[in-house]
Amino acid sequence: MWQAIILSTCLAQLTFAADWSYTGDTGPANWGINNSDCALQAQSPINIVTGNAQTDDNLPIVDRSYFYQPSDGMLVKNNGHTVQVDLINGYTINDNNLLPFPAKAAQYHIHWGTATASAHTGGSEHTIDGRQYFGELHVVHYNTKYANLSAAVSQSDGLAVFGWFIDVTYPQTNLDIQNLLDLAQTNAADKNDNGTITNRFSVETLIPPNLNEYYRYKGSLTTPPCYESVVWTVFKSPIEITQAQAIQLATAYYENQAANMVIENNFRPVLPLNGRTVTKPRPLVQQSSGSTSTPHMITGFITMALTVASLL
Ligand SMILES: [Zn+2]
Repeated sequence: MWQAIILSTCLAQLTFAADWSYTGDTGPANWGINNSDCALQAQSPINIVTGNAQTDDNLPIVDRSYFYQPSDGMLVKNNGHTVQVDLINGYTINDNNLLPFPAKAAQYHIHWGTATASAHTGGSEHTIDGRQYFGELHVVHYNTKYANLSAAVSQSDGLAVFGWFIDVTYPQTNLDIQNLLDLAQTNAADKNDNGTITNRFSVETLIPPNLNEYYRYKGSLTTPPCYESVVWTVFKSPIEITQAQAIQLATAYYENQAANMVIENNFRPVLPLNGRTVTKPRPLVQQSSGSTSTPHMITGFITMALTVASLL
């Protein structure tokens, strides 16, 4: 009897949990009705006001080599809300300056807007000083103290998500992004389609050259159930793609192909900061040669110069 009631309640919740969209009655403004965490006070995404971001000297420059290691397996799929790549045994970042826990990459997915031959709109979830980019790549990692992403997703110290904006500024096809877009189109054009990627590639191939500047805050999943389980790292330097690639992203993937319903504008609008702090690493110091160095290196150089001067 009780088992039947509990089971039916769980099934009802599962039904409700899946019942969300980016428009209309089941859109972001109403997600809190069936997913109460979506109405909490530390939600994502946010507008990042760069002038208010506080320098945290403990935050390091991100080491690009973290992203080099390909996972043991890659599965590209369409869940009706986005195209996603699940990583089997993804890389682990173990740097307690960068993240408060060892974090293992589990999947990445994209949010985007709309695009035509002459224009593109919207798309990114976070905004920077009010600017919204065309898209945003999210790489989702989970705290390795939990068994997997599912076990971590609702925990307050569960997830670390890295976000990169996608800007439509590239004059030539971004070949690494094109590879991903084509694999997704071949294997995951319609909802619930999926396919194994046999020629595995690393996350490093997708991200921009400059990882030096980023913003850090504590927030949530940007889709129901909106758990406030995410340490966010949003990079300033965007991934660059062409207009043709923006069009492919905004027209090639469907939430219902038979009904010609494409996935577009799959972003949650920004939410209030509500007193949270956004931090950033100390900026690199630009030298006249065009190279960069950290303040520590500059201090060392000055100390050395003074030492030499005192010898003269
Ligand atoms: Zn996302």
